[in-house]
Amino acid sequence: MGVAENLEKIVSRLPMGVSLVAVSKFHSDELIMEAYNHGHRQFGENRVQELVGKYERLPKDIEWSMIGHLQRNKVKYIAPFISMIQSVDSLELLEDINRYAERSGRVIDCLLQFHVAEEDTKYGFLPDCADTLFDKLDLSTLKNIRIRGVMGMATNRDDEGRVRSDFRNLREIFERLRERYFSDSESFNTLSMGMSGDYEIAIEEGSTMIRVGSLIFGERVY
Ligand SMILES: *Cc1c(COP(=O)(O)O)cnc(C)c1O
Repeated sequence: MGVAENLEKIVSRLPMGVSLVAVSKFHSDELIMEAYNHGHRQFGENRVQELVGKYERLPKDIEWSMIGHLQRNKVKYIAPFISMIQSVDSLELLEDINRYAERSGRVIDCLLQFHVAEEDTKYGFLPDCADTLFDKLDLSTLKNIRIRGVMGMATNRDDEGRVRSDFRNLREIFERLRERYFSDSESFNTLSMGMSGDYEIAIEEGSTMIRVGSLIFGERVY
């Protein structure tokens, strides 16, 4: 099966209100163009250097998401073009994104990454901090970022119960943040969760954005 067929299979079954980020990390420009020529525009990458290279070589109407850990000293390379940074895992990073977005004359959409999975290698805010995260930061001073919601990953296991409860946890965090800090913001509306192995469960648990790589492009070769 080709990229276009794989993509179509997923897209044709997506419920209304759920979007798909095609995760193209480690995959070639050619494969990305197969998806692009099929009409897809949202792509996700997790390494700055690869992302910048692909941005420079590929059509400029692609909407790129950064989904991997972002070092503060690398924000400047992606700020001029990135559509969404889904992996915001500290307030310092958020402030840096705001600063470089301002220099580029842009407003950058951000998601707050939360860590709910068992694995301790994954980045993100801890669930506990959802209720106090912005108590000490005046968000209205950050005019060049727009916080759109929450991103997270479930535990990487063949245990559907665990995966489902991780997604529920993410949804609760999303709703708590919305109530506490974004109750009058219509743009806080994105819950990015679900990957190749678990996106159907994620959608059942309220995902509005899935990030799928291998099911579309095949296995990654590192
Ligand atoms: C790689 C990656 C994905 C996609 O993973 P697949 O299993 O290939 O669908 C989704 N989200 C993040 C944060 C990733 O790093």
